This record gives sequence, C-alpha cells and structure tokens, in this order.
Amino acid sequence: MTMLYFDFNATTPLSHKAKMAIQGMLDQFGNPSSRYRLSQNLVTLIHQAKESIAQLVGGSSERIIFTSGGTESNNLALHSVFSQLPVGQLSRYHAICSAIEHSSILEPLRWYQAQGLKLTVIEPSKTGRIDPDTLCNAITPQTCFIALMAINNETGVIQPYDKLASRLKGKGIHLHFDAIQAVGKWPMSSFDDIPLTISFSGHKFYAPKGIGGLYYSQQVKINPLLHGGGQEHGLRSGTENTLGIAGLAAAAKEAHEELMQRINYCREMRTYLLTQLDEFGVNYHVNGETNPEYQAPWTLNISFPGIRAEALASRLDLCHGISVSLGSACSNNSQSPQRSHVLLAMQSPHDYIDSALRISFGHVTEQHEVSVLANALQQETWHLLAIAGEQRI
Ligand code: PLP
Repeated sequence: MTMLYFDFNATTPLSHKAKMAIQGMLDQFGNPSSRYRLSQNLVTLIHQAKESIAQLVGGSSERIIFTSGGTESNNLALHSVFSQLPVGQLSRYHAICSAIEHSSILEPLRWYQAQGLKLTVIEPSKTGRIDPDTLCNAITPQTCFIALMAINNETGVIQPYDKLASRLKGKGIHLHFDAIQAVGKWPMSSFDDIPLTISFSGHKFYAPKGIGGLYYSQQVKINPLLHGGGQEHGLRSGTENTLGIAGLAAAAKEAHEELMQRINYCREMRTYLLTQLDEFGVNYHVNGETNPEYQAPWTLNISFPGIRAEALASRLDLCHGISVSLGSACSNNSQSPQRSHVLLAMQSPHDYIDSALRISFGHVTEQHEVSVLANALQQETWHLLAIAGEQRI
C-alpha cells in the first residue's frame, strides 16, 4: 500500500537539496571550535547557514543562535527574560501569553507562574485568532514579557504578531514569537526597535530534526540556558550540529526562493480537497479562520460531526495508508488523549473537537494524493456514521 502523508505541520521529509548537503558533509567530521584548517570550512558553513535563515526571519544573521529545535528555542527565550530579573522578585513581574500557545511556551510559563510570576492568558475568538486590543489591554506596569505564536500549529490561524510588535514600540516589553509554523513557510519580518525573539525549527521546513534556532533583536540580551564550551558566542554551549546546520542551510535557501510558490500551491490543494468533499456530500465543519488572509493555506483543521477522530484517523491509516493528525502531534504524546486546548479555547462544541482532524499539506503533496484522501474521507465517514447508527440518505 502506498503511504500518503498529510501531516506536514508535525514534521516534513528532508528536501533533496538538504539531503545532498548533509551527504556532502558526512566526511567532514571536524569540530568547528578547532583552530586548524580542517575545521575552518565548518565555521564558514555555520556563518552561511545563518545568512540563509536571516532571509527567512527578516533580520540580521549576527543575531541567530542555533539550538536543538523549537522547544529549546522557546525555553531559551523565556529563560533569558526571567533569569535576568532581580533574584527572588519574580512575583513583582507580569507576563501575557495566548491560550493557544504550544506546550513548549505554556509549560515553562506555568512553571514560572508556580515560582511567583503573574500570568495573564488571553483567549482567542471562536475562529482561533487573538485580538491585539484585548492583549494590549492586559498590559500592566509590571508586564515584562508577552508570547504570541505567529501561526497556530493546530488550526493554521495566522495571529496578529506584526500588529502587536508595532503596538509595543517604546514600551520595553520583551515580545516572543513562536514562529515554528511560520519560518520557512510564511513571509516574516523582524522588528529591531523592540526587544523581540523569534523561534524556528528546521524539521518544519524540510531540514532535519534536531536543529532550530532563536533570532533576537538588537535590544535583547540573551542569558544562556546551556553553559559550557562557549559556542555560539557563549550563548549556547555545545558542539555545533554541523550535519543539521548543513541541511538547514540548504532547506532555508530553497524555502526562501520558493516561498510564495509553495504557499499558492498549498492553497490550491486545500481548496481542491474541500471542493471534492462538497462534491461527495461529506458533512464537515472547518475549524479556524474563514478570512483567507488569516488562515495558513497549508493547514486544514476539519471536524466530521458524529464521528470519533481517533477511529477515522486509524481507518485512514490502516485501510488507505493515509497519515493525518488528531489536533496537534505534540499533544498526541500525552498518556490519556485530551481534548485539544486550542479548540477548547475557541469554544468549539465538543462534537467538533472530538471529530477534528488536522490535515496539513506541503509543496510536495500531489493532487492525485488529495483525490485519494477525499475519496477515503467520503468512504470512511459514511462507514463510521453507519456504524454509529446515523444512516445517511
Ligand atoms: N511550537 C510550535 C508552534 C510547534 O508546532 C512545535 C512543534 O510541533 C514546537 C513549538 C516544538 O518544536 P520542536 O519539535 O522543534 O521542538
């Protein structure tokens, strides 16, 4: 059975160029920190990789730190801010985040909250978007940090991160964008006139797993999470992941060159799937933005009322070789499956939450694969509804 993949928000395959770049590096085993010539081309590689990433985040290559991925980058941004506050004074400070952040933001923030930090969590609209006015109204004289993701991983809803950045000018509040679903997929710009950090992760845009990073604006002083050999200008110790960096550089260059083409192609695939489902008379509800301006075209969070998403996803997998996700891939790690915190925050009815699949496309998705998915969805939703006793005409 051919395997069909529709979970590009969870991770992406390596691009051909990323693979080639890694293969070309396999024998270059030097340590970039060594002084001899054997290692010097690795220093150049790291420098060039930062230039390619800088084009994707719209900032200076000098203020990029490579990390092991998105989770570490988010933790580094938070640690950097809170560890620089006066010792024992956390309870005099206030932070704001959205309720739909990824667990790698929510969990560390809750940890700091347990240590005394005051935290305000902003709920989204029913379409999954955070209102920048509501967020700004929550600012108090004690607010020192705001986290807003650029694009939500479960719904693909594009958040008003750029609007927020311009509203924070002159306020001295550190703004963090978890842009892990945006960098390499969506045009981004950095803002150097505010304290800003932006996290990214290679495996979301056809680079390998285990490599990502954090961009920081001129106004930010990074306090490292990892201390040791002083790599990354002392901001992230540990011997550099040169194979990962080689793959990341190649994937970032391609992503930059093909960004709009990929976006438009994914939009076509998403529209095609919905048109097919309409033609087949499948009953569904799209969770997320109806305004296309606010909706990432590679993500479709879709509910099939009356059906359990687990049953549908496993039938798609076992009977058709199709991989789709239930909500966020990260939340699938929990021992007992829990309702998506994102759809709950959007006040989606439980029937929509329990029947929601996240289908995500890549520029490598082929139209005939989308046809197979549409047919399988029609077949399996009818089958499961019949079992549930909800006979269709
Ligand atoms: N933030 C968002 C929005 C994500 O989607 C993910 C991964 O799915 C992460 C953070 C964590 O990134 P990583 O898997 O690179 O640790």
